[in-house]
Parts: sequence; C-alpha cells; structure tokens
Amino acid sequence: MSADALSADSPSPEVPVAVAPASPNTPHPRHIRLTSHSGGFGALPIVWGAATARERGPVVGTTLNVSNRNVIGTHSGSYSVYRALAVAAGALKREHRADLTNTAPTDIIGPYPQWADPEKIVSMDPWGAVIADAYATELEAGYDIRPTIAVTQAHVILPEVIDALQKGRLQPDGRFLTAGGAAVVTKVAVEPVWYLPGVAKRFGCTEAVLRRVLFEETGGMYPELVTRSDLEVFLPPIGGQTVYIFGNPRDLADPSVTLTARVHDECNGSDVFGSDICTCRPYLTHAIEECIQGAQRGGVGLVSYSRKEGRALGEVTKFLVYNARKRQVGGDTADQYFARTECVAGVQDMRFQELMPDVLHWLGITRIHRLVSMSNMKYDAITGSGIEVGERINIPDELIPADARVEMDAKMAAGYFTPGAVPDAEELKIAKGRGLGS
Ligand SMILES: [Zn+2]
Repeated sequence: MSADALSADSPSPEVPVAVAPASPNTPHPRHIRLTSHSGGFGALPIVWGAATARERGPVVGTTLNVSNRNVIGTHSGSYSVYRALAVAAGALKREHRADLTNTAPTDIIGPYPQWADPEKIVSMDPWGAVIADAYATELEAGYDIRPTIAVTQAHVILPEVIDALQKGRLQPDGRFLTAGGAAVVTKVAVEPVWYLPGVAKRFGCTEAVLRRVLFEETGGMYPELVTRSDLEVFLPPIGGQTVYIFGNPRDLADPSVTLTARVHDECNGSDVFGSDICTCRPYLTHAIEECIQGAQRGGVGLVSYSRKEGRALGEVTKFLVYNARKRQVGGDTADQYFARTECVAGVQDMRFQELMPDVLHWLGITRIHRLVSMSNMKYDAITGSGIEVGERINIPDELIPADARVEMDAKMAAGYFTPGAVPDAEELKIAKGRGLGS
C-alpha cells in the first residue's frame, strides 16, 4: 500500500469542530482527532494468526484514546451507530468502559490449532471471548479492550420442537431436551473482525482493491482503509453470527463424536414471522430437531446463524423481488426465480459463503458428519476450507410450505443438493407460487 499522503510518523491532525454540541448535556470535545494518519505511539501490534493471545496482541477498537487504536472501525458491528446516537443524545458517556466482572464464557472454547493458522480464520478474533484473561495486563495498564465474542447458556423453546415431542419424533431426556420441550444449549455471539489481507485472498482480489472498494462503497465512512496501510484489521459495520450448540461444545472438535450441523443465513420474514414463501424457518427448526436427536444419540449439534438478511441484499430488496416475482407474466415460476432477483439486485446472491467456515474452524471442527443443508455454495465453502462433510441431510418434503415450492424447484434445478428427482425445464415453467392478494 502506498496511499499515505503523510508520512506514517506524522502526528494525527486535529481539526476544529464547526458543529454545536448535539445536546446541552453532552460534553463535546473541542477538536476531532482524526485517526486517518498514524499517531505513532501507544498502539499495540497485532500479529494475525500468532499461536498465543500474547503473541497475537489485543484488538483495540476504542474511541476513547485514539492513539491506542490498532484497527479500523469500531466495536459492535452495525450497533456502533446506535452507540453514537446514545452518545449524541447524552444517554451514554463517551468515556464509559465495560465492567467485565462475571462476564466470562460459560464454556471454554479452544484454543485449537486452527487459531494459529492466519488463513483458516480471517473474519473473527479467535481470542475475542477471553480478552479479560488473556489481556489482563493491558486492561490493567488502561487499554480499552472489548470482547468480540460472548459465550452463554440458554433454553430455547420452539413450537415445532414441542410438536415433534407430541408426535413422538422427539423424546425428552431432561438433559438435552426437557419434558416441557426446552432444548438446552450453549450459545455464542460473534462480532466480525476482519484481517484484510486474508479477506482479500478469500475473495480473489488484492488488499488494495478490497480497501479502496470498502472505502468507496461505504461512502467514505472509514478513511483509514486507504490511508492507514499499517492497520490490517477492520471491524466492519455489519452483523455477525450466533452459534447454538446442542451438547458439549468441546465435542465439536472431536471428529470421533458425530456432529450434526446447519449453517443458516438470516431470514427474518420466515425465521421469525413464519412467511411461507421460503423454507428458511422449516429448515432451521428441522435442523434443531436433528441437532437435539444427534446430541441424544451421544453426538453434538450445531446451528450457526449468520446475519445476512435476504441473501445479504437486505429486506427491502428482498420484498421488491417478491413483488417482481408475483407480478410477472405467467406468475411466480421457478424458471424465473433467480432472474427476478438479478433484475432488482444485479446479482443472484451476495452471501458469498467464503467467510462462513471461519466460525467452524474457531470451534475446532474438522468433520461434519451430518450437514443439514441443500446449498451447494455452503457445502463447497465448508469442504473447500478443509472440513470433511459426511452425509447431507435434506429437508423432508412435508415441511416445505406450498408457496415455497418455487424456491425449492429453482434451487434444485440450479444444482442444490437433493436426494430426489431434479425438476426439468417444463416443470420449472409451471406457476406454483400464490399471486399477490390471494
Ligand atoms: Zn427465507
């Protein structure tokens, strides 16, 4: 990178603030300290892929002491904007530092050999859950270091699981599944932490191109992407992942324990609100049923849930596509399923599963015995990253809503996994989706 307009050791420029304080209660600094040029001291180095937390060094995305920052962007993904609103409104003190008392993970994950491979994990911080322990000295010294991963335990109660209990497909055991139908899980929230050279390599572009396009396509939101080539780690303003583990989390890393797993991309319309145009919630709840059964058979189950709404196109685009599909001449047909998305969005899919396997490597996974997914993109990304996949589990036909037949046929014809017949061209032209208003 040679984008530096100033030399790397020049002091951070200070710019007088022309705007008035947002609220009379908000103490507002008189100057904005730009981070677009290196302050030259106080920042700890990050050695991505180093074998220990100590050698790797902490990720410091603080906004309190900019000379301590060693990354681009700030914590909490997209919620960093809400934090800014809270500060602007005077509801949050800028200088607030997290009190991490009693916040330690409920289950220890790793470390695993994959953590020390700078190419296996490029989109999360493997040490993000244990910063209070790993960087106690630095925290003590005043560095504002925040966890990017949190591990806790929960009971999850789903009507589909209770239905499976009532129909006898699931049996309560009091350990993985209570008599009341609650599944006992360990859950892990993960915020994205991108090592830019590694992310660029996954997407087959140069780091310079990645930095420039991220800068331009966010409206110039992070100037350091193009001015601070010394900062190689970026905290992007996007959602991360939540992992649900059924059984002992340590078993995920043991290839002799049967692992049932699904990697699921967010679909608010179906997952939460039960929309019948797609198979997302049926797939998710079917996978949870499989995970519970897997744990009860002495294995372990995993659902990794990624915030990539509407194929990472967002929900507005998704709803526009629904209208375009249902209003087109000939009705909602599988043969036009991908074309309608491409007309509106310019691409069929922006989920790009290239970064998805990182969380699996973080969990120490080397083999998925039963993958509950029909997506060839997910399968290719997982196996391409070096994780073995045994059996692929398809969704039972009776769980597919009638209106979602369009999506299922289109996906099978496009090469998604199915143990059954692939629909032919004539079949794909038959309108199977409901029209609008019906
Ligand atoms: Zn969906």
